[in-house]
Amino acid sequence: MVKVKLKKKGEEAEAATPSGEGKEVLDMVSGLNKMLKKVESIKGVDFEFDEIILEGVIPPYELLSKLLSGAVSAPAAAVAEEAAAPPKKKIKLEAFKLTPPVETHPGKFAEVTIGATKDEGGTRAFSLKIGGNNTSPYYRFEGNLPHRPPIAHLVFDEDPGLSKVLKEQYGDVVGDPVAWAKKLVDVYGARVIELDLNSTDPKGTNRSAEEAAQTLKDVLAAVDVPIGIVLRSGNMAKDVEVIEACAKAAKGENIFICSTSLVLPTWVGVELDDEVLQYYEIAKEYGHTIISYQPMNAQGLAWLNKTALTGKEIPLSKVMTDPGWVCVGFGSELVVTTMDTVDNKALIGDENFQPPMITAPCNAWLNRETWFALDEWGSEVERGMAFESATAASALVSGAHMLVMLDQRAIEMTEALLDKIYISKLEDVRSVMRHLPMNDCKKCGYDSCKAMAEALLKGETEVEKCEQMTPAGIRSLKRLLNPEGVKTDPAEIENWIVEV
Ligand code: SF4
Repeated sequence: MVKVKLKKKGEEAEAATPSGEGKEVLDMVSGLNKMLKKVESIKGVDFEFDEIILEGVIPPYELLSKLLSGAVSAPAAAVAEEAAAPPKKKIKLEAFKLTPPVETHPGKFAEVTIGATKDEGGTRAFSLKIGGNNTSPYYRFEGNLPHRPPIAHLVFDEDPGLSKVLKEQYGDVVGDPVAWAKKLVDVYGARVIELDLNSTDPKGTNRSAEEAAQTLKDVLAAVDVPIGIVLRSGNMAKDVEVIEACAKAAKGENIFICSTSLVLPTWVGVELDDEVLQYYEIAKEYGHTIISYQPMNAQGLAWLNKTALTGKEIPLSKVMTDPGWVCVGFGSELVVTTMDTVDNKALIGDENFQPPMITAPCNAWLNRETWFALDEWGSEVERGMAFESATAASALVSGAHMLVMLDQRAIEMTEALLDKIYISKLEDVRSVMRHLPMNDCKKCGYDSCKAMAEALLKGETEVEKCEQMTPAGIRSLKRLLNPEGVKTDPAEIENWIVEV
C-alpha cells in the first residue's frame, strides 16, 4: 500500500487525504518524471498544496523539488499539456545549389510542323512545331524540351453518340462539324482541331470520300488553326479513298492524317498491303504530315515508320507516331511501356523511333465507366473528366508530343498541368485570357479581361492591376508573360510557404 498525503498551508497534517493504490501513484509520478525530464524548468504552475507526502515509495525527490520550486501562475493541466507537446522547431530555409546528374543522348525526336501559314503555302493563322526534344519528358535539367505539347480538340462529323455530360458542352453543335469547330476555337480557345470523319465508315453512314473532303474544306474555311483528320472505320481501302480526297482538298495546309485501320501482316518479312503503302504515298504527294498507327506495338511502329522514311522517302519532319492509348485503369500501362521503348530508342539514335508521338486520351470515353450513371461509381458528371485528364497526364509523363482530347474540363486541367511544366512565353490573347479570372469586373481599369490581356501583351499594364487574382496566380502569369525576366527572390520563398 502506498499513501499520498497532500497538506494545505495552515492545515493540520491529519487532514491530508490518503491516495488509492500505490501503482496508480507510481504511474503518475513516473509520467510526471518523464515529462519533466524534457524541460529545464516549470513555470506557470499554480499549486494549491505546498506539501506532498508520499509514503511507502521512493519518491522522485529531485523531480518534486523542481515541481515545487517553480513559479506559480498557470493551471497545472496547461503546463502538463505544454510539456507533452513536441517542442516547436524554427524552420530556417537555406539556399543551396543542386547539381543534378545529367546524361546526354546521341539521338533526338524529329521536329514536326503542323499547319501552314500563308508564307508556308497554306491559310492557317499560325503553324505549330512539336517534338525536337533530346531528353525524356520532364528532364528539362538534362536537355532540351523545346515545344509544349499542343492539345487537338476533337470534332466529329456526325453524332458519335455523345454522353449526357459531353452533350452539355457540344449538344448545340453536334452533327454540324463546322459549327462545332468554330465553337472550339471561338469559345474554348482551341489551337488545333482534329476532325473525326466517322461518317465515312462503310458499316455506318458510309458517306462518300467527296462528302468528307467537302466537310474538311468547310472546316478549314471556318477556322484558321492547324487541322488534322482521323479515320477509324477498320476498312483500309475506304480510309485510303477518303484520305486521298481530303489530302487533295487540303493541299498546302499541311494537315496531319491518321488512319487507325492500318494492319500489319502477321509474319515479319511479309509485304505490307497496297493500301498501307498508298497511305504514305498520298501524304507525300500532297505534302501533308502522316501518322503511323499501331497500338501498343513498338516494333510495328518502327516497321511502319521505316516504310515511310526509307521505303517512301518521306522526310522525318513529316511523320508522326501514334502508339494508341487506352484509359488509365484499363491497361494504359501497356501503352506507357510502348512509349518508354519509343522514347529510349529515339534518344539512342534509332531514326525509325524518332517521329514525335501523338496519343488520344479522349479514348477514355469509350469506357462505360466514364459516363454510365450508377450511384456506386460516384458522380457521372465528374467521372469522365477525371478519367480523361488522368489519362492525359499519364500520356504526357510517357513522352506524348501532342494529345487529342474531348472534355473541355479535362482539357483545361491538362493545360494547367502543362503551364507548370513548359514555361513558354505567352504570346497570344487567348492564352493570356486563360490565366485571368474572366469575370470582367473592370477593376483593373479595362472594360474586360480580354482588353486587359491585350494590354498585358503590349506591355501597357501590369498583372498586379487585376484585383481578382491570388498572389500565386499573379506570380504564375508574370512568369508566363516573361519567363526569362522573372527571377525568384529567395526571401520570397518563405512567404510562399506561409501562403500554402
Ligand atoms: S480586374 Fe481582373 S477580373 Fe476584373 S476585368 Fe480586370 S483582369 Fe478581369
